[in-house]
Formats: sequence, structure tokens, C-alpha cells
Amino acid sequence: MEKHMAVCPYCGAGCKLNLLVDDGMVIGAEGIDGVTNEGELCLKGLSGFDFINDTKILTPRILHPMIRREKGGELERVTWDEALDFTAQRLTEIKEKYGPDAIMLTGSSRGPGNEANFVMQKFTRACIGTNNIDNCARTCHGPSVIGLMDTVGSGAMSVSIPNLENADLIMLFGYNPSASHPIVARRIVKAKEKGAKIIVVDPRSIETARIADLYIQIKNGCNLAFMNAFANVIVSENMHDKAFIDAHTNGFDAWWETIKNYTPESVAEVCGCDPDDIRKAARMYATAPNSVIGWGMGVTQQRQGVKVVHTIAAIACVANQIGRDNAGLAPVRGQNNVQGSCDMGMWPSLLPGYQKVENPEMRAKFEKAWGLPAGTLPAEPGFKLTDLPHGVKEGKIRAFYNFGEDPLQTEPDSADMKETLENLDLLISQDIFMTQTTALADVVFPGTSWGEHDGVFSASDRTFQRFTAAVPPKGECKHDWQIFQELSTRMGYPMHYEDTEEIWNEVRELCPNFYGATYEKMAGTGHAQWPVPTLECPGTPTLYKNGQFNTADKKAILMAHDFVEPTELPDDAYPLVLCTVREVGHYSCRSMTGNCKVLSMLADEPGYVHINPADAEARNIRDEDLVWVSSRRGKVITRACLDERINKGAVYMTYQWWIGKCNDLTMHVTDPLSGTPEDKYSACEVHSI
Ligand code: SF4
Repeated sequence: MEKHMAVCPYCGAGCKLNLLVDDGMVIGAEGIDGVTNEGELCLKGLSGFDFINDTKILTPRILHPMIRREKGGELERVTWDEALDFTAQRLTEIKEKYGPDAIMLTGSSRGPGNEANFVMQKFTRACIGTNNIDNCARTCHGPSVIGLMDTVGSGAMSVSIPNLENADLIMLFGYNPSASHPIVARRIVKAKEKGAKIIVVDPRSIETARIADLYIQIKNGCNLAFMNAFANVIVSENMHDKAFIDAHTNGFDAWWETIKNYTPESVAEVCGCDPDDIRKAARMYATAPNSVIGWGMGVTQQRQGVKVVHTIAAIACVANQIGRDNAGLAPVRGQNNVQGSCDMGMWPSLLPGYQKVENPEMRAKFEKAWGLPAGTLPAEPGFKLTDLPHGVKEGKIRAFYNFGEDPLQTEPDSADMKETLENLDLLISQDIFMTQTTALADVVFPGTSWGEHDGVFSASDRTFQRFTAAVPPKGECKHDWQIFQELSTRMGYPMHYEDTEEIWNEVRELCPNFYGATYEKMAGTGHAQWPVPTLECPGTPTLYKNGQFNTADKKAILMAHDFVEPTELPDDAYPLVLCTVREVGHYSCRSMTGNCKVLSMLADEPGYVHINPADAEARNIRDEDLVWVSSRRGKVITRACLDERINKGAVYMTYQWWIGKCNDLTMHVTDPLSGTPEDKYSACEVHSI
């Protein structure tokens, strides 16, 4: 039996493992001593490998390229040459007729790693000539990236996953780690065992609330009101650090002008909690020696996501709970390489390494390295992923290249998204499974699976780690970076990389903060946590030490905002709040975990709508009943799960199931500052059948 070192592909915790291979089949996984997991794995890491063997538990792998010659025609199997020639010709026609900005691409934040994403964005910018490149961070932690870059200068966790267990206080705000990042949840339990205080603020009494010293159940959609009041208490009770504020921040007086209006009493009704609990939480946070705020999509998938992140960052600065190993900000990213997608410039306003497309010096550097004439790279930020529906309706986007995502399953308002995808002149999908999106495509490229390729992932805490191929690609599958470079070469911008290390070395040369992260340093269980600017640098577990922020004058910018209510409030027709959440056994659109024996046995379709027993009783609904859930976008059938931990007036559904798909109900309304959908709040009703 052989062992091949890999990084788990199921969340941003970045757990290292060995894939166990016998006679060309992956037969098991075992945790190894990675920096974030220290040998531990959760159920997904241990049991999530079957699909590599094409076990066809849910769907078969895609093993050869296909094209649909005419709209309405059938997908037909073709050779790689024919598929690539067809695609290059169609993309070139669209570019010539409508311009490069008529083509939009979205990268993959899971399987293939940073090298494939780097080559895809290079193809987008250098070959097609547009900044229309995005990734799924747009629909999850986009507000964290933007909100933190606006305030402290870097859109990532300021602390490290291992250091979480040494904090004195951890406050979880709209973040359910036991479902999202089980190994991070274990770090929080370890912190508790070492004496840390835990605060959970969430409408649902999540698993971690059971070990919390203070659990505050708030209403859905009130985040900014709550955080403004929390900040108000810190300053009103003189718990802020005036010396730190003077030396290391800008804008305190203007910030306080807004925050001073948000007393705990003033938000009690909108938040639905006891004002004294807000005071208690603020005192615990501000007076602990080292406090961390962790947040998830309960913060970001809201209408005011960026503004809440601005406020969280300001709170950490005002209370001087940032810039130490065990004190800071922890927006823990969802998909395993969503941090990496952002690191690699799969973002319409950022080149790799967070270098802005609007900066002429940065563009000139990339033009020189990529052999492009001066002035070739586009300077205007491109479309966001969530611009796709209106971009297609307005005729601005004619072609969409989808890489390793399934927007028809994971984006809001599925009916609208389906119409969007069907109205494109050209839909290209590169994936390992025939997802709902891929089934609509005009071109299907079979990429390689986790376990079949080499590369580097970025864990949520900025840790680069290598993974290696355990088995060769199945069927005619090609490495994803090879597909992009062959297409680019056919379209007149040749690329000829030999392997992923050559690509990675180009990334290092172009991105000063990644330069020291060599393959050699990351061999085995090695790792490099950016910024890692030199070969000698061991990496940087903690950002902003000594109050040095990543802004022009090294000072944090304090920003405050007034609270506004969510867009679609409950009413007589739709009296409940629908909130989308995730399920611990499944991942993203479920194409991978649904094709793993153990994980697929965890639950069967349809998924569940979790509802408070009082709300269920009022509707004559019993546990496990089949029910309809309806909203202004549609209705779906699913099963009721009566759950005391659910707050009254709200229901919770995962987005992973094909039957009972909650995105048939959600709406396409976004945070105007980030373009991130308001997935955590729409109005609905539940009816018994
Ligand atoms: Fe994989 Fe995340 Fe579980 Fe670690 S915590 S084994 S990275 S799913």
C-alpha cells in the first residue's frame, strides 16, 4: 500500500492527510501532523475520498470532453482537439464581436489548487483581456475580504488556527464551526479546556453554544445594531485603549459620532436580547488579556455584510484586541481553497498577491513578466460573479466559463440563474461531475479530481501547504492548468508550463508576500504562512504586530455605519425568516461528498427544514413530516425537523440538496458594497402537505 500526502479538500481548516492507495485505488485516508490539524481529521477528511475512484454513488465522473454544437442539441463526446478548437473559435468570435468584457469567468475554490487558478486568471487577463474573473468568495466571505482591506489593510485572518486554542476569550458571531470547520471547533474546545471564556452570539443555539460561558440569542438580520451597541459599551465604560487608538488608528471621533447613538437599550428590540447581555459580552471581550472574534457567513451573507466587518475590525482596534498571537480577527473561510482563489487574483479588482488592477505600476510589472505590450492589461475592475444575471439580461455578458463550481445549485434564486445560464451565447463548464450547471453547458471539459493533481492550497489562516497526486487522472481528464494553457495557446497567447512548480515559481516572483514559499519549504508537512517575503522568513502567523496595519500610513481606519433592516421582511403571506446554513457531512453543492459512501449515508434527499417546535405546532406539522416551503421565488418539498435550538420565527435549510433546494426560495439581492447575496434572510412560509 502506498501513502500520498494531501490536504483535505472540504474546508479552509487545511488539514493534512495521507491518501492510502492500493492497486491504483484510493482505499482510505489518515490524518498526519499538519500545522493546523496535528494528526486529527473530521468525518469528511476521513471518509471523503471515494469519488476519486469514480464509484458512481450519486453520479459518474466526467471522463472525456463534450460539446453541444447547437443550442437545444445534445452534448456529444469529442476529442480534446475538437473541444479546444471549438471553444477557442467561439470565444474568439464573441470577443471580436462584443469585446473582451463580454466574457466572464469564475474560478474554483476547491479541487485544483493555486496553480490552476493562477493560470486561469492569467488566461482571463493576458489572453482574453478582461478583469471579469471572480470566485465563490463573492458569495461567502467577500465582505470579509473587502471590509478588512478597507480597515486594517489585509482581507484575511489576522491570527492562526493553532493559536486559537491559546486565546483567553473567543467570541463567535454568526459562525458555526462544528458544521463548517470541525477541526477549528476542536481548537475552540481545547481553548475552553485551557480556561478560555467562550461567547456565542447567534439566532440558533449552535453546538458551540453548549460550551459557551455566555450565549446571546439574537434575532436574524440585526448584526450591525448588535455590534454597534457592543462597541458603544466598550467606549462608554472606558474599556477602550486610548493610547493605542491615538498611535495606531485614524477616524476615532467620526466613528464615535455614529456609535454613541447605539446604546444597548436602543437596540434591544431589534436584536431581541437583554441589553445587559450585550454589556456583559463587551466587558468580557474588552477586559480579557487576549480576545478573538470569529465570524462566518452569518455576518457576510447579509445586506450590510461589509459594514459589519468594518465594525468588527474597529472594535478589535479600539479595544486593542489585535496584533498579538492570541488576539485578533478570525473570518474562517469556507471552501478549502477560497483563500487561495483570492490570493491568486481571482477577483475582478485584484491581480495575484492582492495587487490592485487600478495601480499602473502593478499592471506594468505583470505586463513585463507576461510578455505583453505596455498598456495591454485592463485597468477597470471587472464584473462580479453576482453580476452575471443582470449582465446577461442586459446583453453585456455573452459567454461564461465556469470552473469547478455549480452556481445553479449554490447561488440564490435558482429559476433566475437557470434562465441566465440558458440565455448565454456560450456556457463552458470544467468540472469532475455533471452538476446542474455543467448539464446546461455548451462545452464540458473534464478536469482532474482531488487526489489526481499536485499543487498548493491556502488554508484559511494564510497557510500555504503542498499536496501531491495519489493516482493518475481518470479517463481523458486533463490537469486544469493544462486546459487553460492549451486554450490560451489556441487563442493566440501561448503558455507552455511543464509542471505546477514552474507555475508556482512565477507566482512567487510576481507576489512579494509569497516569495519565500518555495515547494522545498512546503515539502512533507512543511508550510509557509504569508506574508513570507524572503527565503529565510519562516512565515507570519500573526498580522499587525506592534499595531502596524497594512495601510498607507500603517494605521487602521475606523469606520462606523447606521443599521438598516434586511431587504425582505416577513409579512402575513410569508411570516417566517428563511436562513441558509450548511450540514456537517456535506460540502458545497454535494457533488463530491454525495459520491462518498459514508458521507452519502448520513442523510438522504430531501434535506430538512429546521423549525422551532412552537412554529411547527402552529402549522400542525410534526417531526419528519413532508412539508412545502414557499417564498416569492417558488416552493419546494422537504422534510420538517423540529428543533428546540431554532429560534422562533425562523427556519433553516441547507443548499446542498437537489430535492428541497433552498436556493429555489432565496432571492438575488446583494450587499451593495461587496455584491454578496443576502442568503441569510428572506421571507418564507412552511405548510404541511
Ligand atoms: Fe477536512 Fe475541514 Fe474536516 Fe479538516 S476540518 S478534515 S479540512 S473538512
